[in-house]
Amino acid sequence: MVGDSDAAALAVGYVSDATRADKKKYPTYAAGQRCGTCILFEGKASDAVGQCALFPAKRVAGPGWCSAWVKKAA
Ligand code: SF4
Repeated sequence: MVGDSDAAALAVGYVSDATRADKKKYPTYAAGQRCGTCILFEGKASDAVGQCALFPAKRVAGPGWCSAWVKKAA
């Protein structure tokens, strides 16, 4: 799993719990955004963990978030 304090995570503001996203640093964050609904998340929205193209060597938390979040098309 990607750790919140991994250098790659810090670089993009990744947190394993989206509610802890740094809203001052990343004003684009809006409540409800989470890895599970991101276009780069390889899995279902309800999955607890999944692969993300940003972190090829590790997995991210479904409830996580980072500043590269883009809504997955329905
Ligand atoms: Fe999560 Fe998307 Fe960021 Fe990957 S790019 S860590 S799936 S928000």
